[in-house]
Amino acid sequence: MRNGEVSFWWRARGGFPPRRPSLPRPEEADVCIVGAGYTGLWTAYYLTGMRPDLRVVVLEAAFAGYGASGRNGGWVTAALPGSRARYARGPRGADGVRALEAALRSTVDEVGRVCAAEGIAADFVKGGRVTVATSPTQLTRVRATLAHDRKWGDGEDVVRFLSRDEMRERINVAGALGGLYAPDSARIQPAALAEGLAAAAERRGADIYEATPVTAILPGTGGSGGVARTPFGDVRAKSVLRCTEGFTAAFPDARRALLPMNSSMVVTEPLPEATWKEIGWGGFETLGDEAHAYMYAQRTADGRIALGGRGVPYRFGSATDQLGETSPATAAALGDILRRMFPAAASAQLEHAWCGVLGVPRDWCAAVTYDAGSGMGWAGGYTGHGVAAANLAGRTLADLVLGMSSDLTSLPWVGHRSRSWEPEPARWAGVHGLYVLYRLADRLETPGEGAAASSGGQARVALGQALGRVGDTISGFPH
Ligand SMILES: Cc1cc2nc3c(=O)[nH]c(=O)nc-3n(C[C@H](O)[C@H](O)[C@H](O)COP(=O)(O)OP(=O)(O)OC[C@H]3O[C@@H](n4cnc5c(N)ncnc54)[C@H](O)[C@@H]3O)c2cc1C
Repeated sequence: MRNGEVSFWWRARGGFPPRRPSLPRPEEADVCIVGAGYTGLWTAYYLTGMRPDLRVVVLEAAFAGYGASGRNGGWVTAALPGSRARYARGPRGADGVRALEAALRSTVDEVGRVCAAEGIAADFVKGGRVTVATSPTQLTRVRATLAHDRKWGDGEDVVRFLSRDEMRERINVAGALGGLYAPDSARIQPAALAEGLAAAAERRGADIYEATPVTAILPGTGGSGGVARTPFGDVRAKSVLRCTEGFTAAFPDARRALLPMNSSMVVTEPLPEATWKEIGWGGFETLGDEAHAYMYAQRTADGRIALGGRGVPYRFGSATDQLGETSPATAAALGDILRRMFPAAASAQLEHAWCGVLGVPRDWCAAVTYDAGSGMGWAGGYTGHGVAAANLAGRTLADLVLGMSSDLTSLPWVGHRSRSWEPEPARWAGVHGLYVLYRLADRLETPGEGAAASSGGQARVALGQALGRVGDTISGFPH
């Protein structure tokens, strides 16, 4: 099995794209974007579309799509990257939250629209999102999630319950007891989207410089514009936007802003038609579960299962991986989940494993921020729901930079502030402790055939549920 090489998604495209040149000399720009992942690229794409006269420069440490944007599970999902209750504390209250959720739903279509308009062959299929419950406790959580969604006004068109039979008709997950279906989710090939988007932004006039790490971002004063410092010279611009999500902690002034949470994936070899007949999954839905240390998966366009989960959640001192290499133990654990959920694919080889980092703010709520005075802005902290959210954030940053007041700029994640993460070693101990708790809770909640009915089994399940709740309370994880 290959491990690392950034991701299977890049290997499937025949390796990394030809490297763009580094910044050739110090430059002046209207807008300087730091980071060529989805956030930076969408921002560049919309800004250059709205104002072709602007000089937009993107500075990327490695290559466009090197980060989470070229490594993710390929869910373009309308799932809220944060807590409804926390966003509702903003001035627009619950209405603001509903507006943000509606905007995220339409964002799924916007990503599909741009793929079609720009000829980006990213395997976009809007098949919806299925959440499967494989234990009675997970089923209870599914029902609680649905009740909560209904309280917030989500009707059957936004999310609906799937009986065991309905679930199995869509995707035959072993042990499935039921689930949820939300139509606003699409499957993509992540690296294809990143590569296509970078090319589309360039066609509109953005300049992307690769192998150009930004070592410091210096805010401007009195409308003079800020500076992005690189080994090849400074880029001075009226607006400087930090779009570095999981890598943000490397900037000294943002060390505790976003925790680089690690997520790992494995992918099978292409499965034969007979296996797909048993599994189903003809709708290409994005698939997740209701475990505390949850999994996410997609059926790829070339007939593989790509499945991800947490593994080692966090590296001490907010360190990040080397070219996406994950631990063999994590790859093995993901393989176990895959075989447990899909016995029909049990003999399939795992071809590739990799990992990446996503950004998690202390309150688990993403933000889009721009200060017109200093010209500094940033967006991120999507807590694992960043593919669609980065598009919405990019459109929003574009409006903010252009000084426009729009439906997007009044959404409650604009200007949202989260407190900082704890300093080390508390940060490392806290995150690792949390995932030890979550894994234990998942194990206890799934006592195995027959055992659940015994009084010992029930006590185990109750303990698992209690530990899960303790974990959620400590972490502030939104439900
Ligand atoms: C394994 C995995 C699976 C995921 N699955 C999903 C999913 O299925 N659906 C979903 O919605 N979300 C998912 N996510 C999250 C989602 O991929 C991210 O939230 C999203 O891609 C973030 O995009 P971004 O542009 O903000 O950051 P990134 O894509 O990480 O891009 C940041 C870029 O900034 C560059 N950079 C960093 N520091 C500097 C610097 N100093 N100077 C210049 N450039 C710099 C990096 O090289 C990188 O290219 C997943 C994440 C991971 C890691």
